[in-house]
Amino acid sequence: MRCRKCAQPAVIKMPRHNTSLCKDCFTEFVHTQVRRAIKAHRMFAADDRILVAVSGGKDSLTLWAILLKLGYRADALYVDLGIGDYSARPRQKVQRFTDTVGAAYQSKLHVHTVEQEQGAGIRELATLVHRPTCSTCETMKRY
Ligand SMILES: [Zn+2]
Repeated sequence: MRCRKCAQPAVIKMPRHNTSLCKDCFTEFVHTQVRRAIKAHRMFAADDRILVAVSGGKDSLTLWAILLKLGYRADALYVDLGIGDYSARPRQKVQRFTDTVGAAYQSKLHVHTVEQEQGAGIRELATLVHRPTCSTCETMKRY
């Protein structure tokens, strides 16, 4: 399978677009898609400051990296729920990403630690409001 743009070995087949692309052409394709979506939906202007909520997963970290590579001034926000390893591992991933990719663009990571900011952990807060932990977490992350 060859890249339809440059004939290098393809790394992804995209039937919806009737094409296959190599790593570099796929990266360019994704950046173009993001650039077009920002413009089509008038999300923000080139000089706006952007705060990207990151979870430590590949989707949010990739979005942050793309915005930086496209020249946007984007910082990141990570909400630390304080649930043992469930929170510690993604926070470490976000910190490593910030130390490499974020630092290259003088971008900053803002961490909202639930226990410090709200005075109780997410599980205690869920008990207080008589809601499941996931529901409490979702509401907190939204606001
Ligand atoms: Zn290619």
